[in-house]
Amino acid sequence: MDDLQLLIDLHIGGERQGPGSNAMTRRAMELAGLTPQTNLRIADIGCGTGAASLILAQDLKADIVAIDFLPDFLAELEARAESAGVSRHIKTLAASMDDLPFEDGAFDVIWSEGAIYNIGFETGLRNWHRYLKPGGVLAVSELTWLTRDRPEELTEHWTRAYSEVGLASEKIAQIEASGYEVMGYFPLPKDCWLDHYYRPLQQRCPELLRQHGESEEARALIDAEQAEIALYERNADYVSYGFYIGRKLPV
Ligand code: SAH
Repeated sequence: MDDLQLLIDLHIGGERQGPGSNAMTRRAMELAGLTPQTNLRIADIGCGTGAASLILAQDLKADIVAIDFLPDFLAELEARAESAGVSRHIKTLAASMDDLPFEDGAFDVIWSEGAIYNIGFETGLRNWHRYLKPGGVLAVSELTWLTRDRPEELTEHWTRAYSEVGLASEKIAQIEASGYEVMGYFPLPKDCWLDHYYRPLQQRCPELLRQHGESEEARALIDAEQAEIALYERNADYVSYGFYIGRKLPV
């Protein structure tokens, strides 16, 4: 059993595959000034099983392309879209976020929750810029330090896991340096980590173990997740995801 399959099995049953909530997706939509309008084209990059795509489809009736490199997640997204009655608004695309098949200016909105870190925040900002129309909106969430001073164990863990973790002021400067005007920033509240991500994930762990015959690999993955959760619980005042909203400058 490879590690990727284990990760898929752990995460596919989750409402989300990273911190977030429907309420905060809606808050970002509001800051982005998005309202239902005809022919709005949105790319949801690293969509997972579709937490954001489903809300965007329900609230905006937009045309959404939901992109992820894991076809299993996209199949789950399609089933959820069907149950929610929004499948006609969502097309899925199995592709890597560093090699997207879109024309320049193809989208009014690029959305990406808890996923841009896979190519790095700055690389994502710069590479995705061309897919937006001038004046188009970018809404991304990204691991962010809430304070300048932090417990050593926290800095040590996240710098090792994701070297680009930084303060909101640093992220905002990068957005400005990459051809966008900043429209808004807010940090995700704790319930986005605990109620909508970590607690449900913990509840799925026994099933994962059963499914994988109590394998050592499954046990090791669960132990690593538990350690990350405990680290978060000790340090929730110092780290979160930040939601960043920018507008592509007219060229
Ligand atoms: N946006 C979703 C999922 C976040 S988890 C949510 O908020 O719930 C990050 C997602 O990025 C996963 O679904 C993972 O499969 C996807 N991903 C990771 N690397 C990727 C890549 N190079 N190209 C496309 N998707 C990728």
